[in-house]
Amino acid sequence: MAEWENYVKRTGACCKCERPFQEQEVYQATLNEVKDGFERRDFCSECWSDQIRDESFSFWQARVPRKEEKKKVFVDDGVLVDFFKRLSEADEQEKQGFCFVLALILMRKRLLKYLSTETTESGQEVWVMKLTGEAKEYRICNPQLDDEKVAKIQMELSEVLAGE
Ligand SMILES: [Zn+2]
Repeated sequence: MAEWENYVKRTGACCKCERPFQEQEVYQATLNEVKDGFERRDFCSECWSDQIRDESFSFWQARVPRKEEKKKVFVDDGVLVDFFKRLSEADEQEKQGFCFVLALILMRKRLLKYLSTETTESGQEVWVMKLTGEAKEYRICNPQLDDEKVAKIQMELSEVLAGE
């Protein structure tokens, strides 16, 4: 499985004009497909455009917290669910790894429910799952990651999907 080396950390600045975000400033966060995974790019409202939005894999509005506010570990649940839905359609192996770990996170948050396990003709284990309040079934490959790999992906996910 390919590594997700190309993600970037939240820098606290617009990636286009490089202006640092101010306390409480509202900006647009995006995830973009790169060769081996996803890259986080944040934009100030002056640099944000429909074109950037359309080219993004996932995007959401974010706000810089006040200094005394407690930082959130993850973005809002809605963003996580949206990212999961998009990832569930990806065929690439490395994205399936991220989709699976994201599914584990959503299960822990009780946003996703495990229904059953199926095995494909090629012997691939597939988990059948449902989002809370939705009828659609998702079939997610279990990439059989070891604990170390799961921990690594979890760390990388928390970097690109860091809350504010
Ligand atoms: Zn900017």
